[in-house]
Amino acid sequence: MELKCFLCNTVGAVCESADHGNRQRITCVAPGCGNYVITSGAIQRLEEGGPNKEVLVELVRLANERTGVLDISVASDGLLQTTEILPMA
Ligand SMILES: [Zn+2]
Repeated sequence: MELKCFLCNTVGAVCESADHGNRQRITCVAPGCGNYVITSGAIQRLEEGGPNKEVLVELVRLANERTGVLDISVASDGLLQTTEILPMA
């Protein structure tokens, strides 16, 4: 399934359901963006327009450079949190 990247709005990002549908695994084609995993709650938060997407794109890129993948979720305080995880096979 293709969609707009949740972080940089580039069309053509590939989206795969993961974690029993609780997360989406995104592969963004834009230079400077990349691969990340995001929870449904975090997607909703981004659609509402609160979080700083530019910072998140930067974190995604840095994680990818270290061959990690950024996992974006909502913390218990309601703010977005990011965790670097190992790439999933
Ligand atoms: Zn992107």
